[in-house]
This record gives sequence, structure tokens and C-alpha cells, in this order.
Amino acid sequence: MQINKERLVQTFCEMVSIDSESYHEKKMKDYLMNIFKECHMECIEMPIEGFEAGNIYAVLKGHTNKEPIMFSGHMDTVSPGKGKQAIIHEDGRITSDETTVLGADDVSALASYIEAIRTIEDNDLPHGDIELAISVAEEPYDAGSAYYDFSRIKSRIDYTFDLAGQVGLAALEAPSIISF
Ligand SMILES: [Zn+2]
Repeated sequence: MQINKERLVQTFCEMVSIDSESYHEKKMKDYLMNIFKECHMECIEMPIEGFEAGNIYAVLKGHTNKEPIMFSGHMDTVSPGKGKQAIIHEDGRITSDETTVLGADDVSALASYIEAIRTIEDNDLPHGDIELAISVAEEPYDAGSAYYDFSRIKSRIDYTFDLAGQVGLAALEAPSIISF
């Protein structure tokens, strides 16, 4: 059983092409909700007053005798992030066209979660509940997740793919931002 790399890259490039700067995530939110529903996930948006899009909670229901597990990330990108294009190079690297950011933060996480869910579905793999928590407006100091309704979450373990570095590394602790 293998991850469908071609489909993963296609999803990544599609998401890169969606404008989703902080506080302007409606198109990305719609795109994600459609995919989660296609994947037979229960999916809700948590609207936030004054925000264009709300945070997303989605769950792929699984066997109750397995521990639920969560993955989280954010759907906004920094600017300049309008009209982003993914350029696939011969060596396999994917970059922007250098006029904007690529938005791999955090699209690479979201695309990998989607591919993992699709792979589970395609291969009928056994699993417990898989929860996804995707926030808006993460880049402006977590403005979106401040509104997240955490009472929905059943998982005791969450992985957040939102860090640079080698695959396999994890940050267990980090200083928070201090603003002056
Ligand atoms: Zn990030």
C-alpha cells in the first residue's frame, strides 16, 4: 500500500492556486469542506463574527475500540499570497514563481492529511476516529484558533504539521511569541 504521490502533488498544487491570505480564507474553507465531505467525513464550520471564514472541525468516524487521533493545521497563508502558482521543477522541488509566497505553510500539511485520509478510504484501512482541526488566521498570532470550539475534540493526541525541518523531527516545547 502506497501513498498516491501524483494525487498528493496535484492536491498540493490546487491548494497553492487558491488565494487564502489571513482573514480571506473563504475559498480555501469551501475547498476543504468539499473534500472532507467527499471523503465521507462529518464536517462543520465554526463561524466567527467579523471573519470571512470560520474554523473547521472534521472527523472520519472509525472503530470505537481504537484511540481517536487528531491532526491540526491552518488554512491561511502570509502575504504576498494572491495569485500563487506552484512551479514543479525537474528535480521534484516545488516552488512559487517568486512573485508570491508558495503557501507550503501550511498547505503541505493539509495536502498530506487529505492524501492520508484518501489512502485510508481507498484501501479500507482499519482506524479509530480521525479528527482534523483546521484554523483560520493562524499567522496573525493565532487569531482564529482563539475562537475554536475545543469541546468537540475527543482525541488526547494531536499532531500539528507546521514546522520546518527534517521529516521525523518534532517540537515538544517552544517559546511563545512576545510582542512589544
Ligand atoms: Zn504555519
